[in-house]
Amino acid sequence: MTTLITHPLPVLAIGLALGSRVIPPRLLIAGMLAACLPDADVLAFKFGIAYADSFGHRGASHSLAFAALMGVLGLLFAPLLNSGRIKAGIWLALAAASHSVLDALTNGGLGVAWLWPWSEQRFFLPWRPIAVSPFINGFFSERGLAVLASEARWVWLPCTILAVAGITIRKAIKP
Ligand SMILES: [Zn+2]
Repeated sequence: MTTLITHPLPVLAIGLALGSRVIPPRLLIAGMLAACLPDADVLAFKFGIAYADSFGHRGASHSLAFAALMGVLGLLFAPLLNSGRIKAGIWLALAAASHSVLDALTNGGLGVAWLWPWSEQRFFLPWRPIAVSPFINGFFSERGLAVLASEARWVWLPCTILAVAGITIRKAIKP
């Protein structure tokens, strides 16, 4: 995982950059939730399921199949999100997938089971600049702070630039 503070930020940044006419607030919030949801799998540890299991951390809930399922939920519940169905489906699928992309950019733990249920293989991206987050107990430690600094550099800052750039461009086009 990257930390749960960080996972919804790319979704928030893109939503703010596109503006509420394209991404209405409810759709934005649903997307931010979809970007956090895959890490509900840490509950698996409580049930004694190992990290490397299909339903262990970064397993099934981090797969493309899970992202597609989020997309289907988006299609079904689009009216509640004040959105067209196609848009809500794509938005939620991409939001859930963004979670696994961030995890695949971290430098530790096991990779992401992109291809579950067809393959148990865990994947990382070739470039892994983000320091992996310790689980909650180690969070307020020196390592926890180093992780936040790493996420600030590689996620928070780019997201802020993206959001500000998008808002600025939108204002420039439509005063
Ligand atoms: Zn994760």
